[in-house]
Amino acid sequence: MSATGGGGHDPARLAVLRGPVEPIDHNARTIAALAANPGCDRRAVLDAAGVDKGRTVRHLGHPPRFGLSPFAMFRNEQFKAIVKEDGGAHLVRLLREVLHLTTEDAAYQTTGEDAGDAREVRHRRTAELLRQAAEAGRAATLLDRPLLTLAIAGHDVYLEPDVIAFQAEGRFHVVAIKAFAVIDGQAETAKVSAAAREAAVYVHAMRALFADLGLDPERVSHDVVLVCPKDFGNVPTATLVDVRHQLLVLDRQLGRLKGVDRILAALPADLTFDLARPAAEVAAALAAVDARYAPECLASCEMAAFCRAEAHGCDSLAALGRAVRDDFGGVGSVAGAIGLAEGGVLPEADQSEVAERLRHIHRIYDEAVV
Ligand code: SF4
Repeated sequence: MSATGGGGHDPARLAVLRGPVEPIDHNARTIAALAANPGCDRRAVLDAAGVDKGRTVRHLGHPPRFGLSPFAMFRNEQFKAIVKEDGGAHLVRLLREVLHLTTEDAAYQTTGEDAGDAREVRHRRTAELLRQAAEAGRAATLLDRPLLTLAIAGHDVYLEPDVIAFQAEGRFHVVAIKAFAVIDGQAETAKVSAAAREAAVYVHAMRALFADLGLDPERVSHDVVLVCPKDFGNVPTATLVDVRHQLLVLDRQLGRLKGVDRILAALPADLTFDLARPAAEVAAALAAVDARYAPECLASCEMAAFCRAEAHGCDSLAALGRAVRDDFGGVGSVAGAIGLAEGGVLPEADQSEVAERLRHIHRIYDEAVV
């Protein structure tokens, strides 16, 4: 079944880009990562074609340092098991508090963990259980491991089930369980942002499924419930996180993937990232697609080591991070910034303000070191 609209790409063109292999599957984490750098054409093309970025970057001699360590994965699984104990009884108490519900308890259902179950079967079961929960009215339901789908660049992908959908009093909430600590009511901003981006993918996919089922997608709340360990122990605590902003970014990025034809139109028709080719040829093919490297890529994209090495060799200000790029709006290179500061380069119309600031800082620096 289709979760969202199709893409309209030329599948043959994407197959040429990818080489003679199957496109890789996405999961919520990889889809969320799409939203982390929405301006990067290279990532948009690689993801639309379903290129295995991890294999590609290894082929290029840059092993990806990306993803959770085995210890972090074990810790995540351990904490999830604690939160779900007793058919989610403790979780329901937390949800009741954070959502201010009068609900006493909730039915606990799972789409099944039988490895033998095909994904299609589990997805159909998810749709049926969500429909039943939607019709249940005031009775609360916890649905563990809902298996959702999302159309990415014109083909449906399954989303790994690592959240719980909770229905109470007619509203559905995505519940994301993460093992990073909340200390004195505060958690690391980067981790909360990553969890919010990931949860937004589930909200988006659940809303799409609701639309397919003839249900009102707005019944899936933009307030997701983030469950984390409190302080340094294993006691769970729940917080509401509003993911409206993340949903907007995700919509925009998925829209860009659907519109990747515009990027492809500017590329040679025979361009390919086929890993049967020598690394230098694959690197040259990648270099033909504009990238927008920022240090944040290191936490969100397998290609980061390759793109960083490339950006360091090309004098790009963006390689110093988004904060620098925003501060220097309109100036693209380190040499350009130095030229404006020293007065050797005349500012363009949109650079007068930043040029003024650079000259001012340059004067202060000169006075300080003389
Ligand atoms: S690492 Fe490279 S391909 Fe990935 S988002 Fe950053 S610039 Fe784009």
